[in-house]
Amino acid sequence: MSLDTHKYSNGEVTVVWKPKLCIHSTICWKGLIEVFNPKERPWIKIDGATTERIIEQVKQCPSGALTYFMNEEPEDNGEK
Ligand code: SF4
Repeated sequence: MSLDTHKYSNGEVTVVWKPKLCIHSTICWKGLIEVFNPKERPWIKIDGATTERIIEQVKQCPSGALTYFMNEEPEDNGEK
């Protein structure tokens, strides 16, 4: 089974959206229309809010359609 996956990154955080899981609860765009605007394409404007605010909103998605991960810095920093 493969789920469509769309990724939106601002360089710091990447928001992952799986449309097939979306139950159209409207929570994301009612909470943060600057980023989640279903009337626009692409509907996620990753530069519309701070990373912190985006993460806060993504965590409220009830279906798991929205998730996020932090973009890793290259790990080769010499630490053992
Ligand atoms: S909060 Fe999640 S389930 Fe609700 S509309 Fe947004 S992506 Fe879809």
